[in-house]
Amino acid sequence: MTVLISTSPQRPSDVIAEVAAIDPGLVPGLVAAARLAQRDWWRASAATRSAALAAIAGELRSRSAEAVALVVREVGKPIGEATGEVARSIALLDYYAQAAYAPMGQAFTPSQTTGLLFTDRVPHGVAGLITPWNFPLAIPLWKIAPALAVGNAVVLKPSPEAVGCAALLAEILNAHLPTGLFTVIAGGGATGSALVDSVDAVSFTGSAAVGSQVAAQAARRGIPVQCEMGGQNAAIVLPDAEPLRTAATIAGAAMGYSGQKCTATRRIVLVGEQPLFIEALVMAVSAFVPQDPATAGAVVGPVITAESRDRLVHAADAAVYSGGRMLTGGGAVDGEGWFVRPGVADGIPHGHALLTDETFGPLVILQHARDVSDAVVLAEASPYGLVTSVHGRDLDGLLQVAREVRSGMVKINAPTTGVEFYTPFGGMQASSIGGREQGLAALEFYSRIRTITVAPHAP
Ligand code: NAD
Repeated sequence: MTVLISTSPQRPSDVIAEVAAIDPGLVPGLVAAARLAQRDWWRASAATRSAALAAIAGELRSRSAEAVALVVREVGKPIGEATGEVARSIALLDYYAQAAYAPMGQAFTPSQTTGLLFTDRVPHGVAGLITPWNFPLAIPLWKIAPALAVGNAVVLKPSPEAVGCAALLAEILNAHLPTGLFTVIAGGGATGSALVDSVDAVSFTGSAAVGSQVAAQAARRGIPVQCEMGGQNAAIVLPDAEPLRTAATIAGAAMGYSGQKCTATRRIVLVGEQPLFIEALVMAVSAFVPQDPATAGAVVGPVITAESRDRLVHAADAAVYSGGRMLTGGGAVDGEGWFVRPGVADGIPHGHALLTDETFGPLVILQHARDVSDAVVLAEASPYGLVTSVHGRDLDGLLQVAREVRSGMVKINAPTTGVEFYTPFGGMQASSIGGREQGLAALEFYSRIRTITVAPHAP
């Protein structure tokens, strides 16, 4: 039996959870049990599903402090952001509790017959969800809540680094749902792969390397799949951007939660010479001293594992070997925990892997463009296309970027990070496969459209 041990990144001797990994061979049986429970759930009224989701929201609300503390401890999220994640999780549950009543069909009038022609939507059956560690409550819930709202059962395979948070979710959800409707299966890649082989639809969030495998496996089975993956997101700074405010916004987007968000700013494309912006950015980033994420006001805590810390230290070294330079930060912090100094790099040669591959940590790289068109070309010089921000006053330049850049989301004078849960969320290119998450778009992913013709029995 494999045991998964989740430890705190700021204090690795602190064991958060020890759980037995589910053997891949057991997964089909658990999915079959979920399929049985799903039949009654789908037959139940929208009011029943709505009430269950509202009750889950209520319980999470009453256990907010416990949930925040667990997120801080298990994945090293700074307490302010962890508080925001729990509040967002409750809002998602409240929203999808109401969305259970959303109209799911359309009448076609006049129809070709003298009867009735309409569409409705039916759930897939069992939705298999595979999630990362960086939003250990909000990402599972932004999949679980819409899946349940439209009548699916759910089997969740959380990240091994976040099994403690997944256990809390199981406790809260199962107190308000029929037996078998929601199941957490702890495990690694083999357990996740067995889930993809058993369920009726798959929603994955994680790295592009794993997501592309998951998508191919689901496609071979012919089941609906959506994968939200990484980003090497650019912030484009136009020549007329106010340097201090823009630098502060971008520094926060790059370094908040140690840059461990898919939407974090990883590259900053400067249009023209911008010495004031660079100075302000370096000052803002240097001010983010890594600290215990439980400290009020902390912005940068640890990175998730020793391997992540070593990868980030290596990336800063590679920036220098490539002919570039670190304007600040870059090394590991001595002592307990996986802390890395937030870094700003400049002068990395065009096409270098640091610019194209996702770094997923507190490192941001400056790039230099001649004009707005050149900035769009640089911003797109990575396989990803999740989110791009553009900063400045010149409306023509702002709109040119918004129109031209290949990215699923564009933020004007706003950080790349931060999403509104009631709007569609997702990327382009290597960042995303399949339908959008969140908002009403998620209800579409978790259901299938049918067309129903009613002809008169005796015309
Ligand atoms: P990861 O890809 O390593 O793991 C994600 C999940 O997939 C985990 O539960 C893991 O156990 C599982 N898994 C691993 N191999 C598998 C396989 N062969 N079959 C099925 N499942 C398998 O990602 P991570 O390190 O947990 O998370 C960080 C990544 O997530 C980053 O790339 C980040 O950009 C991305 N992310 C994307 C979004 C988004 O919405 N676009 C949001 C958050 C994080």
